[in-house]
Amino acid sequence: PKKIIVVGGVAGGASAAARCRRLDESAQITMYEKGPDVSFSNCSLPYYLSGLINDADDIVLMDPWELKHQYNIDAIVNHEVTAIDPVGQTVTVKNVLTGATEKAAYDELFLSPGAVPVRPKSISGIDNENVFTIRNVVDIKALYDYLMDYSITDVTVIGGGFIGIETTENLVNGGFNVNLIEGQEHILNTIDYDMAQIIQKTMLDYEVNLITGDTVTAITDTTVTLKSGRRLKSGAVVAAIGVAPDTTLAQAAGIKVGVTGGIQVDQNFQTNLPHIYAVGDAVEVVNRQTHKRQKLSLAFPAQMEARQAADHVYGRQARNRGVIGSQCVPVFEMNVAATGLTEKACQQNHIDYRVATVIPKDKVLLMPGAKPLFFKLIFGYPTGEILGAQAIGEGWVDRQIDVIATMITNHNYVEDLEDLELCYQPKFSTAKNAVNMAGLVATNILNEEFHQIPASQVRSLVEQHALIIDVREPDEYEDGHVLSAINIPMSEFRDRLAEIPRDQPVYIHCLSGQRSYNVVRALMQLGYTNVYNIAGSFMAICEYE
Ligand code: FAD
Repeated sequence: PKKIIVVGGVAGGASAAARCRRLDESAQITMYEKGPDVSFSNCSLPYYLSGLINDADDIVLMDPWELKHQYNIDAIVNHEVTAIDPVGQTVTVKNVLTGATEKAAYDELFLSPGAVPVRPKSISGIDNENVFTIRNVVDIKALYDYLMDYSITDVTVIGGGFIGIETTENLVNGGFNVNLIEGQEHILNTIDYDMAQIIQKTMLDYEVNLITGDTVTAITDTTVTLKSGRRLKSGAVVAAIGVAPDTTLAQAAGIKVGVTGGIQVDQNFQTNLPHIYAVGDAVEVVNRQTHKRQKLSLAFPAQMEARQAADHVYGRQARNRGVIGSQCVPVFEMNVAATGLTEKACQQNHIDYRVATVIPKDKVLLMPGAKPLFFKLIFGYPTGEILGAQAIGEGWVDRQIDVIATMITNHNYVEDLEDLELCYQPKFSTAKNAVNMAGLVATNILNEEFHQIPASQVRSLVEQHALIIDVREPDEYEDGHVLSAINIPMSEFRDRLAEIPRDQPVYIHCLSGQRSYNVVRALMQLGYTNVYNIAGSFMAICEYE
């Protein structure tokens, strides 16, 4: 029988082991995990902090006994693989509880050691006992116990990526005061600045002390100091600054690491050494769209890579076709999902693009709980190829993004979104789904049927005394409006054309962009040539305020 050894017993490791078993009932499969648990849900860890998960042991989905009895996999916990002999095809394994070592032989070796949370040495106090990182069940228990044992009330989370955001949300829901510090100009770099404003506002509504564009320089038992000099009360710190591929074992064995620092693998997830595969957070992947190498720490790619690597061992055709980075995260009542390229990524990769923003309701307005769905589509110019999308709302925004992820994978164009027939019922969505609407707007933009400007330009338009017309009804205007905007409601504009000059640019907005778009189209037909819709309208403008 084939001897299979797997290093790492969670997302990628457990998937590789299980797939090998499904393909080969006779294989001897041994999975080494240096921690005390295998097969746990990393993604659920933060929910222990809020009490949504009461018992941290529930996070472990399968234990070694179940793996042995259900899959005939030897899952050996508290055992670290410390060396690989690629010539003799053996690994050295250390029992981390006793220190005893042994050798084990393999025919095929899978590495899925994951990634290590970064602790920058430049931050004074980063190794203090009140500084935590979150990677496994031991970590989350240690953090929670510390917060309880020392009656901590104020916690600082460093890093506004999805782990930092989930940790913040769960700490707030658990009753803690939270400082969230992000060094970049906005949190969540998988979405653009404009969309990030929406979730940042939500964070502020929940009294998160959100600070962007500043970094932590020092940590003590009671205080966190920022580069700006600000000092924040903080009894504990969660460092969610990022992760680095765990390549120590691989590199020591002569396995090549790529330009991004992840293990280099080929189209079948083979390393440069024979019979050694690597998958998951530890490897370097290729972006399907830019064709550049990158790192990506997400569960689905880890599991799929593991399956494909196992398939290759058993002679099945599998090919690493790269990643697009689809992901989602809740931010209190808001949900955020994104896929493909952001505007920023397009700029960095010198890809010419345009953006269509629509803000429909997530279900028919009459239905209880109908809420705005902020949807941004990024597409290539002049090709119209779908490049990326971001969605935020209280409903299930992953649905829209999953459609776009499929379209990106299939190299579809904005025209393909127009007549894409999706499910509709008033409680579920609008008859024309947000993705259909975005497709229509995008096609109109490509056909130059109308002009739009992003909401981010409104402030400078006001400063330049540009003519901004708010076509909402007077009561909406009275409730709040852009400083210099004049109110000509959609219901009146045809009778008030004299107030709309033809010899200067005119910028139109309403609440979501729908009424203003119709007014823009009407004015164009009435001979106005210099008229612009403000994309996203008042809702988007407010996000910039
Ligand atoms: P891991 O799952 O980290 O497993 C690696 C294992 O290998 C570790 O347990 C480690 O102890 C072990 N190991 C390392 N070296 C050795 C060795 N030499 N010997 C023995 N064992 C070793 N992804 C999503 O897609 N969606 C989410 O919502 C999401 N939320 C997350 C929330 C948190 C808090 C965290 C930490 C991660 C989250 N992720 C999420 C990321 C996702 O969990 C990872 O991308 C995925 O687990 C990677 O799988 P992996 O097998 O590469 O690494």
